[in-house]
Amino acid sequence: MIQTQIDDLRARPVPGQQLFINGRREEAQSGQTIEVFSPIDGARLTSISAGDEADVDRAVTAARAAFEGNSWSRIAPAARKRVLLRFAELIEQHALELAVLGVRDNGTEIGMALKAEPGSAANTFRYYAEAIDKVYGEIAPTGENVLGLVHREPLGVVGVIVPWNFPLMIGSWKIAPALAAGNAVVVKPPEIASLTLLRLAELAAEAGMPDGIFNVVTGRGSEAGQALALHMDVDVMAFTGSGVTGRRLLECSARSNMKRCYLELGGKSPNVVFADAPDIATAAKVSVNGIFRNAGQVCVAGSRLLVQSSVYDRFMDELLKATDMLKVGDPLNVETNVGAVASFAQLEKDLEFVAIAEREGAKRLAGGNRILEETGGSYMEPTVFADVTPEMTLSREEVFGPVLAVTRFDTEEEAIAIANSTVYGLASAVWTSSLSTAHRMVRAIRAGVVHVNTYGGSDITVPLGGFKQSGFGRDKSLHALHEYSDLKTAWIAL
Ligand code: NAD
Repeated sequence: MIQTQIDDLRARPVPGQQLFINGRREEAQSGQTIEVFSPIDGARLTSISAGDEADVDRAVTAARAAFEGNSWSRIAPAARKRVLLRFAELIEQHALELAVLGVRDNGTEIGMALKAEPGSAANTFRYYAEAIDKVYGEIAPTGENVLGLVHREPLGVVGVIVPWNFPLMIGSWKIAPALAAGNAVVVKPPEIASLTLLRLAELAAEAGMPDGIFNVVTGRGSEAGQALALHMDVDVMAFTGSGVTGRRLLECSARSNMKRCYLELGGKSPNVVFADAPDIATAAKVSVNGIFRNAGQVCVAGSRLLVQSSVYDRFMDELLKATDMLKVGDPLNVETNVGAVASFAQLEKDLEFVAIAEREGAKRLAGGNRILEETGGSYMEPTVFADVTPEMTLSREEVFGPVLAVTRFDTEEEAIAIANSTVYGLASAVWTSSLSTAHRMVRAIRAGVVHVNTYGGSDITVPLGGFKQSGFGRDKSLHALHEYSDLKTAWIAL
C-alpha cells in the first residue's frame, strides 16, 4: 500500500525550482540555474535557481523588513505558537510527499527518510512552538531600591546553511527555534538537495507565516552561502557541514559584522565494545546500523569500532553476518536498508578512502566496491576494514560514506586513549554490563554524546553538538532556543 503511494509520488515530474523570497517564488537575478540529478539512477531530476550575492541581499533585506515590521517578532507568543503548530501539522500531512521528494534528491532509504526528515521536522516545530509561551524572563536578586529585569529578545536575521544528508531535519533544528524566538530566517540549502527546504517554505506560508520571515535562497556554497555569511545585516549564522566550510564562516564573520556563528561539524565517532557487552549479537547488529544507515552519511555515524580482544572474533563474526544481510539498492523500495550515496562526487571520495586504507595496510573484510552500476545510480557496498591503527587515514579522517574502521584494544585505558585520539568529538558509544565502566567511559570520552548499550537514537529533548573540531553549536532542546535570543537587562531605580 505505502509502496504504491511511494511509486506514484516518484513518477511525478519536478518542475524547475525558484528561490523563495518574501513569500513568493522568484528567479535568481542572474537567471542562472543548477541542474539536479538523482543519485537513484543518475537521471536529471530538475533544476534549481543559482542564487548569488544579489539574491541573498534581496532575501536578507526582505527578512530584515519583516523582522522590523513586527508582524512576527512582537506578536503575542501564543499567536506565533498557533502558526508554528499549524506548520507542524502541515508537515505531517505532507510527510510522504516530502520524504519521497527528499529521497529522489539525496538517496536516503525511504524508511529512514520518513522518520528522520518530515517526521523529526514536524516534531521539532511542535516542540519549539509549545515552548514559546512557557519560557520566562528573570527578575534579578537585587537590593530593595532597584528592580533588575532580564528579558530575552530575538536576534534579528538568522542565516541557516545545512548539508545534504538530512536537510529537512537539520534545517528544522535551526529554523524552528530561530522562528519560535521571533527571528526571521534566510536558508541556504545544500545545492544537491534543496527541494525539501523549498517545499517547507511554501508550507510555512500556508500555515500563516508572514511574508519575509522564512526565505530560501538556493545556490552554490561559494556564492550564495558565502554571500550570506558575509552579509552585514545577518545577525547569526547557524551552520551544519564540514570543518573546511565552518572555518570559512568564522573568517567571513571576522571580515564582516562579527556575526555569531554556531558550527556543527564532522565526526569520527568511536564505538567501544567491551567483552562484557550485554548481548554481543545485538551490539553487532546495532553497530552495523550505526555506521551504514544512509550509506554512512550521518554526522554521528560510529565510523571507528573499537573491540576488546577477548571478544573480538565472536563480535566480528556477528558484525560481518549483519553487514552481509543489508539490502543495498533503490532507496524508494521500502525493503531497502541502505540507499544510494548522495552524489557521484561523494562516491568517488568514498572509493578513494578504500584505496588509501588498502595502501596503508588495513585489512578489507567486506565490501569496498561500487555496485548496481547498471541502474545508473551511485551505490556502494557496506565496507569493513580491520587492523586499522589510530595513525591510519581511516582512523583520522571523516569518510562520510559506508566505510567502517575496526581496531582491537585490551584495556579500558587503551580504549579511552584510542577513542580520544581524534580532532573530532561529536558522538560515541560504549557497550558494557558494568555500570561503573559505563559511567567512567561517559566521563572519559570527549564527545557531545556518549551512547551506552546502543548506538544513535535521541530525541528533541536533548542537545546535539560537538566537542573539539566537531564544532560548538548545540541543536535541539531548550538550550538551542536560547541560542536565538539575546539577554537584555532593564535596571530600574525604584
Ligand atoms: P559542506 O561544508 O561542503 O557544505 C555544507 C553547506 O555549506 C552546503 O549548503 C554548502 O553549499 C555550504 N557551503 C559550502 N561552501 C561554503 C562557503 N564557502 N560559504 C558558505 N557556505 C558554504 O558539507 P557537506 O559536504 O554538504 O556535508 C558533509 C559534512 O557535514 C560532513 O563533514 C558531516 O560530518 C557534516 N555534518 C555534520 C552534522 C552535525 O550535526 N554535526 C550533521 C550532518 C553533516
